[in-house]
Parts: sequence; C-alpha cells; structure tokens
Amino acid sequence: MFEILIEDSFDAAHNLRGYQGNCERLHGHTYRTQVFIRGKSLDEQGMSIDFRQAKTELASALAQLDHQYLNDLPLFQVENPSAENLARYIYNAMDKSFPGHVHRVTVWETPTSAASYWKDE
Ligand SMILES: [Zn+2]
Repeated sequence: MFEILIEDSFDAAHNLRGYQGNCERLHGHTYRTQVFIRGKSLDEQGMSIDFRQAKTELASALAQLDHQYLNDLPLFQVENPSAENLARYIYNAMDKSFPGHVHRVTVWETPTSAASYWKDE
C-alpha cells in the first residue's frame, strides 16, 4: 500500500453556535488541511496518486470555503462549522475525485489543534 499526503490552507471566519466559551463569538482561522490518499499500485511513472491532480481537487474544494463566513454557507446552516465537520466536508469532496482512495483528512484549526475524519471500515 502507498499513501500520499497533500496539504493546502484556507482562511475563513466562523462561530460555534451553542458553545459555552469564546468560540461562540465570531473569529477566524487559517485552516491547514492535510489529505492522505492511498493507492495499492503504481503506474508506469512509479506514482500511486498524481500529486498535481490531488492538489487541484483539494484547491477546488477549499475554494468553496476560502474567505467565507462559514456559518452563512448552506453546508453549515444546521451543523456547526467545526474542524470535525470541515474535515468531513473535505473528505467527501475529495472522495468524489478519488473514490475509495481517500484515507483521512485532517484540518488544523490552530498550530496545536486538529480534527480528522475518515470512514470507519
Ligand atoms: Zn474557531
């Protein structure tokens, strides 16, 4: 099994509804996003997943979130735009491009706090 990792980031504002603490107030993050994609075999060039294609797909998923007030997006009208829900959204977006290959998505909200999403097997 091979696994590649790509990384990108986006800037956005949010607030967590119903949270008892300062995250209930409007604030922003530079979200660092990591996507782990697995492949069982290599192509003729010796690659499992094309970094360039993966980065293009990730950039396209993150473009929906970049410089947005996340709570305003239809995606987060009901669910909070938590790091966990962002990781799941990005996972599902990447899974459409690499079905069955996306292993895990990790979203860093701060340099020391991250949440990951993957499908339990
Ligand atoms: Zn926050």
